[in-house]
Amino acid sequence: MRRLPPESRSKYIEDHNYIWREIKSELEKLSDNKCWYCDFNYVRSDFDVDHFRPKNKLKDFDDPEQESEGYWWLAFDHKNFRLSCNYCNRPHKGEDDVTRGKAMFFPLCNGTQKCPEQGDIDTEERILLDPTDPLDPGFLWFNEEGRAVPAFDKGYGKYHERAAKTLDILNLNDCQIKEQRRLIKNECDSIIKEGDSAYRLFESRNPEGEILLREVLRRARNLIDDSSPLSSVARIYLLSGNSNNNRPWIDKILKHI
Ligand SMILES: [Zn+2]
Repeated sequence: MRRLPPESRSKYIEDHNYIWREIKSELEKLSDNKCWYCDFNYVRSDFDVDHFRPKNKLKDFDDPEQESEGYWWLAFDHKNFRLSCNYCNRPHKGEDDVTRGKAMFFPLCNGTQKCPEQGDIDTEERILLDPTDPLDPGFLWFNEEGRAVPAFDKGYGKYHERAAKTLDILNLNDCQIKEQRRLIKNECDSIIKEGDSAYRLFESRNPEGEILLREVLRRARNLIDDSSPLSSVARIYLLSGNSNNNRPWIDKILKHI
């Protein structure tokens, strides 16, 4: 591909798209059929093998009319593949009539340069949060209404900006997913309430306490299991939420399951 004239590269990439399509089912197994960006399982929707750094063209996030060369040399690099639902990956209109979706966007932090061919991509200061970077999921949080929000406020500069722009580009707060998060929040609230009363009985050595606590822990474990839709959301509501301070059954038992 390096020997081809630049105008022929896109066709060469598309002619060989079977290379990443062949591994799609393996990526789906890895994530239990969940999108790596939104953590939801769209059972009736097809997935894309997204190129995290777009392979063909890049569109300027602030001025989408401006296009430039993409990261064509990463088109067949498996480290550049992310399993994505169509909704996160492709352009679509949201409820507010604004077109969103990752598509050809890959903005960088202001004043920083795109990595050149053969360069070290880890030195690039990208905006988009990467689901495979162990640090990046920590930049997101979920509020009481099921809305995904930056975990750091504006005073933290790019930590805030990267999360806010990622939420916008991937439209991670559309009505459907917010409603799903809200349902999980309700279930977590119910688990916490029942867990508290079960633990009071458990502490007083009442045999009923063990039975009830075991049942509550089973429900909680199902929600936070990696294979469950939006398990990242349930983990925050159950394990990290402000309302969970001083709950021994969460600290001493649930966090160790
Ligand atoms: Zn998605």
